[in-house]
Amino acid sequence: MTDETFWCENAWLDGEVVQSVAVSVSDGRITAIETGAPPVASRLLNGLVIPGLANAHSHAFHRALRSRTQRDRGSFWTWRKLMYQTAGQLTPERYRVLATAVYAEMALAGITAVGEFHYLHHDVGGRRYADPNEMGKALVAAASDAGVRLTLLDTCYLRSGLDGAPLAEGPQQRFGDGTATGWAERVDGLRRDVESEAQVIVGAAIHSVRAVPPSEMGIVAAWADTHDAPLHVHSSEQTAEVDECVAVHNCTPTALLRDNGVLGRRTTAVHATHLTDEDIADMDRTATGVCFCPTTERDLGDGIGPATALLAGRGLFSLGSDSHAVIDLFEEARAVELDERLARRERGIISAATLLDAATAAGQHALGWPDAGALRVGGHADLVAVDTRSIRTAGGGATAENIVFAASAADVTDVIVDGRHVVTEGRHVGLPDVGDALVRAIGCQL
Ligand SMILES: [Zn+2]
Repeated sequence: MTDETFWCENAWLDGEVVQSVAVSVSDGRITAIETGAPPVASRLLNGLVIPGLANAHSHAFHRALRSRTQRDRGSFWTWRKLMYQTAGQLTPERYRVLATAVYAEMALAGITAVGEFHYLHHDVGGRRYADPNEMGKALVAAASDAGVRLTLLDTCYLRSGLDGAPLAEGPQQRFGDGTATGWAERVDGLRRDVESEAQVIVGAAIHSVRAVPPSEMGIVAAWADTHDAPLHVHSSEQTAEVDECVAVHNCTPTALLRDNGVLGRRTTAVHATHLTDEDIADMDRTATGVCFCPTTERDLGDGIGPATALLAGRGLFSLGSDSHAVIDLFEEARAVELDERLARRERGIISAATLLDAATAAGQHALGWPDAGALRVGGHADLVAVDTRSIRTAGGGATAENIVFAASAADVTDVIVDGRHVVTEGRHVGLPDVGDALVRAIGCQL
């Protein structure tokens, strides 16, 4: 890769906006940052350049459900029926096409790394493909084609509920590996096959306390420890899940994860919406991270998580678009503060700088890319230029407040991932018409 210098009209450096910044890049890393630099004509990035956004929680195939799940007033059953219908129809070829378009949409939104919480492993009826990781590899190829880094959080999913019932007939059969040991053997194979890819990390996930029995959780956690890999888990998203866990195990989902060795610095609890004070103390003591997905949580009517208490703790606080009701990390970021305002009837609780950090550095770290998410010498050369003179942002200035509270994904003009220009002037370099690619990919599904 050739050496390049990008000139930023304004850049977000160490928590503040700095004007006229030259960022030199070599082999995908930042090699120098010069402030007060004269413009370099060939690589001008106007507006405010921020580090790469991280989408720490994605289910790529849920993108096919967007808006369709709002029909019939968008009941829970509309959502569930369509989700299983889509899960039942995907083949590795179709999933690659769909995920490529979805990850390209993410690239256009300034996302440079995605955490794919991947549980659609097997063929119809749970039959293994000739290569049992064919679905995972379709996602690896999709991320590569879309130009984003991928943390493939390969998800262990063993049963249908806390009552211990086996996987249901139908699409759910496609999720299961029988045992956590069976899961680990398959994921070892995936890791061996893709570990040479510089932009891919294979991580682990426990689907939820519903889908993995406590006796099997430790095997997944041990796999993540052995491989120094991120470990993610859906937790405490809805009160029904918490109530059922208390009824069956006499403790909350967080306590169950704690008692089975799942909490810790490498772990991210996704949602973490309904937590007790003891849960929050456990998360802090173990430095367990959380990933809030506010646009999905409000779409599904989940509730509002304890953001300020978790932000005050030692764990990472990241953001994800989860079901992709929208793909816009600025919207996820501002929702954390705006939800707090509605709940408390009070303003100014979480700063724009803190929210921007959640959308960038914390998310990249939670996905196993600790050297990304900041414009820093030696770090990943991820640069995202946001237009500060668009219809939405005009007059707000080159500030973190304008980016977090007014910008949308459509205001991202240029995206550089590991030194490669993936989006130029609002167009994806590899996939010129992402909207058309989405229409065609989703048209195959529904
Ligand atoms: Zn999810």
